[in-house]
Amino acid sequence: MNLDYDYVIIGSGFGGSVSALRLSEKGYKVLVIEKGKWFKDKDFPKTNWNLKKWLWEPRANLHGIFKMTFLNHVTVLSGVGVGGGSLTYANTLPIPKTDFFKTGSWASLSDWESDLKPFYSTAHKMLGAATNPKLYESDLLIKDLAKDIGKEAHFEATKVAVYFGEAGKKVPDPYFNGKGPDRTGCVFCGACMTGCRYNAKNTLDKNYLYLAQQLGAEIIAEKEVFDVSVIGNKDGSGGYKIDYKSSIGRNSKASVTAKGVIFSGGVVGTVPLLLKLKASSLPNLSDAVGKNIRTNNESLLLITSTDKNSKDYSKGIAIGSILHTDENSHLEPVRYGEGSSFTKAMTMPTIHNKFALFRLLGILGLFFKAPSRFFKTIFSKNYAQRTTILLFMQTLDSTLQIKLGKFTKMKTVKESGPKPSAFIPEAMELGKKVAKKVKGIPYANFTDALLGTPTTAHILGGAVMAEDTSKGVIDKHNKVFGYKNMLVCDGSMISANPGVNPSLSITAISEHAMSYIEIKKTY
Ligand SMILES: Cc1cc2nc3c(=O)[nH]c(=O)nc-3n(C[C@H](O)[C@H](O)[C@H](O)COP(=O)(O)OP(=O)(O)OC[C@H]3O[C@@H](n4cnc5c(N)ncnc54)[C@H](O)[C@@H]3O)c2cc1C
Ligand code: SF4
Repeated sequence: MNLDYDYVIIGSGFGGSVSALRLSEKGYKVLVIEKGKWFKDKDFPKTNWNLKKWLWEPRANLHGIFKMTFLNHVTVLSGVGVGGGSLTYANTLPIPKTDFFKTGSWASLSDWESDLKPFYSTAHKMLGAATNPKLYESDLLIKDLAKDIGKEAHFEATKVAVYFGEAGKKVPDPYFNGKGPDRTGCVFCGACMTGCRYNAKNTLDKNYLYLAQQLGAEIIAEKEVFDVSVIGNKDGSGGYKIDYKSSIGRNSKASVTAKGVIFSGGVVGTVPLLLKLKASSLPNLSDAVGKNIRTNNESLLLITSTDKNSKDYSKGIAIGSILHTDENSHLEPVRYGEGSSFTKAMTMPTIHNKFALFRLLGILGLFFKAPSRFFKTIFSKNYAQRTTILLFMQTLDSTLQIKLGKFTKMKTVKESGPKPSAFIPEAMELGKKVAKKVKGIPYANFTDALLGTPTTAHILGGAVMAEDTSKGVIDKHNKVFGYKNMLVCDGSMISANPGVNPSLSITAISEHAMSYIEIKKTY
């Protein structure tokens, strides 16, 4: 049977983009299907008040790049659009510590730290990783904190996917021997998470996807895959039919056929799709689909300065520095660009206590203790300029399971270890120290503060690696147990807690998987 494509890739984030380029280089005919929109630099919103272009919630006619998914134990932040999470992420590309490579369901399959080393180098090179050349106010605030707690030596500038040429100057492709697009030097506007309007952020559409397209890969946007079924043989050796529908317009449906399929929809895309397919078109999928879901044990605290001489914390790149507070823990100051103050509407003061009533009483206490500070944080002008977001992450391990919900697309249940908590004492301690410096109050997402469920931008797992189908969904080369020519290449393959921002690892592990796919035979 003549199939339309060699490979169809579902989703265009980090794993999907790596797959698109490497498969195209190996001579395969590739189609990438992406449910989000295809943004040009000028299409990104100027601030996050432009909800139509910032948030993704097609049911409310919002077609932006940033999605929030509310689950029982955690609120998940993720990216949508051609380029996936790279459009909204904060560009930070740390390499995890040794623990990541030696723990979790993949630990016994390989000497990952040494095997992946060359692929981390390739990932850094492809994403144009460079050390942030200039620390701005929120970085200096954390540097000051580092000094206070005796950790100055553990503070450093981040490695980020940003082009730091002359600010605002356009140059021919500086990365890929002229085969890539023109780039423009970063102007340090701090708006990386609402989308870079200056052509300086190395999003995936400016490297992997751009190069894949030059080699013939096709990308269709605004289409969501809802079914994958085998053609002929039950193990997929005869190929697959991939059904998709419009994700934003009328419910028009279409399908294509391919020899292979790569699931790259990110955890909140791939895991519910695999769970649905296991119950319908792809019954051979492992029972481990949806298991081993991890976060980075993050805490996000927002501190708004009420100092009348407040510095401008919105300038710089989204995450310009990192403080390693101990072996397992890291703190990064995060910023939105000037005018992006919608986050204020989603946050409230937070008190760490496991009982909701005490949390509410604690917030009242904050009000009576310093009413003017309380009001100033709520009604502050220039909110983005006055606010530093503290992203705290830990390597400590615990897992959840994602299941199909009865009334919702997904629900989580607790699996191993303590459930993720919005109340990490070390994070609050650091938050209070920073708040004291800028005369602020620690705020958190309303779900963290009211329900005690943490917010994560780093959801991982759900289709993890293992030696066999009883413990995992994919093998050490990302191949799905039970099916031929089917891989998972995205955050759901991550099989241990990296403890740091995961995109570089997703890129490196996808590069590793692609290196095991043979060049297309042309006889
Ligand atoms: C605000 C924010 C800041 C972040 N900052 C950082 C950072 O500084 N450093 C870092 O390392 N990480 C960061 N992250 C996390 C990072 O963005 C993710 O870990 C990463 O994007 C995950 O990559 P992925 O390959 O799993 O897929 P994703 O990048 O999530 O891409 C998946 C894509 O698939 C599409 N898709 C899903 N389902 C379907 C379907 N059925 N059909 C068609 N398309 C589909 C989605 O629309 C999406 O575009 C941040 C995340 C957020 C939200
Ligand atoms: S700081 Fe501004 S110019 Fe630089 S990468 Fe971020 S959004 Fe682009």
